[in-house]
Amino acid sequence: MKIETKGRFSFSGGAHPAQSKDLTSERQIEPGPAVEQVAIMLSQHTGAVCRPLVREGNMVQAGQKIGDSDAFVSAPVHSPINGKVKEIALRSHAVLGRSPAIIIDAYRYNPTRRSYFKLRDDFDENNYSAEQICDAVRQAGIVGMGGAGFPTRVKIEPNPRLPKETLIINGCECEPYITCDYRIMLEWSNRIIAGVKLARRASGCSKVIIGIEDNKPRAIEAMNTALETLADSDGIKVVPVKTKYPQGGERQLIKAILKKHVPTGGIPPMIGVVVLNVATAAAIAEAVVSDLPLTHRVVTVTGEGTANPGNYYVPIGTSVGELIEFCGGLREEAVRVILGGPMMGVAIADLTTPVTKTTGAITVLTEKQIGRAKFAGRQTPCLRCGRCLEVCPEHLNPTKIAHAVKNNLLDVAESYYMSACMECGCCSYVCPANIELTGYIKTGKTLVARQKQSSL
Ligand code: SF4
Ligand code: SF4
Repeated sequence: MKIETKGRFSFSGGAHPAQSKDLTSERQIEPGPAVEQVAIMLSQHTGAVCRPLVREGNMVQAGQKIGDSDAFVSAPVHSPINGKVKEIALRSHAVLGRSPAIIIDAYRYNPTRRSYFKLRDDFDENNYSAEQICDAVRQAGIVGMGGAGFPTRVKIEPNPRLPKETLIINGCECEPYITCDYRIMLEWSNRIIAGVKLARRASGCSKVIIGIEDNKPRAIEAMNTALETLADSDGIKVVPVKTKYPQGGERQLIKAILKKHVPTGGIPPMIGVVVLNVATAAAIAEAVVSDLPLTHRVVTVTGEGTANPGNYYVPIGTSVGELIEFCGGLREEAVRVILGGPMMGVAIADLTTPVTKTTGAITVLTEKQIGRAKFAGRQTPCLRCGRCLEVCPEHLNPTKIAHAVKNNLLDVAESYYMSACMECGCCSYVCPANIELTGYIKTGKTLVARQKQSSL
């Protein structure tokens, strides 16, 4: 059978930043460092922060639940290693500043873990009830691993008020430099398909579409082959989509594949759609089939500022610094360490910041790459060229919002739908005046959130 690898579908707007994926796209997933200490953040997901279930001095085992919450929108956290709780203390968090974490010192004998999961040939998702699947996903602490960190149980659980029809599996990985999802699609394709089938059974979706950008023909082929290998894959199809940033945004992917629009400020279930990332699908299979909690993940360590870029399977809680050291350390020209990719990632100054469930990449850039990847040079007044409006995938007016934030007119910025900004960075990327529009908008959103909090 000839497999279609050319994408025909896309969304309006967007940009074409340099891909720079060749640094790691051919690097197989390797085990990460044998860590001596991990810091498990109590907040690494959307929703309520976990409360610790252990105290200083407690011994813990790999896979043990160490933090949880009774809230519906939350996810427990687990220890990835055997060890002893050193303390519960604040640690640097890429988004929250400083946030509480459980610090665990490893036992002397704590072997590096490979991804041992094996799918049995007779796997059948019908052996599990929807409740069993949802419960296993909740107990395993699975959250969206593509970046958003929304608890997966909440996404897949049936909701009579918002019935789900279509499950979209996001294999786009449109952000430059990052290749963790690409490698997972090549190396763990059966596991992804098993997770997809389990998610379909739990959510009750009748239609399943796996969207992959057409610059990844080998991933498209691998996923099609896995579909053929695993029985009863009817109703699941792989759809190549055009390569354009941010094609992996939930709203953009839905628009491209289904031609449906998620209402501004709304969520995909409002139009009967659930979107899961490929790594999340693989984690669902691990949780349901092998009872494995989400304690490890694949992280791409990349960028011209690292000595030995690659894709590593690492314990969640490993410090960014330790992982970079494991990859040969920083090169002399390195000037910026980013959690994530260059477009949507967050630059960090503290290398003790731990890897969380949503950390797909650590990108280390040099001055040259920063200039190429983002705005460079001196900022000038707006040229009124309109390029930022053309590329905005949310059809916003970035220059007006940024101008309002700059002048502290937050209500005006809100009237231009500032909260609908997905922080993709396209407007900053194309601006010939080098105005950091996304930075202004992010600041504006943070100020509004603080205002709302203080008025509670
Ligand atoms: S305004 Fe927001 S959504 Fe629009 S291009 Fe800029 S960062 Fe992206
Ligand atoms: S892209 Fe830059 S220069 Fe052009 S209109 Fe937008 S803010 Fe102004």
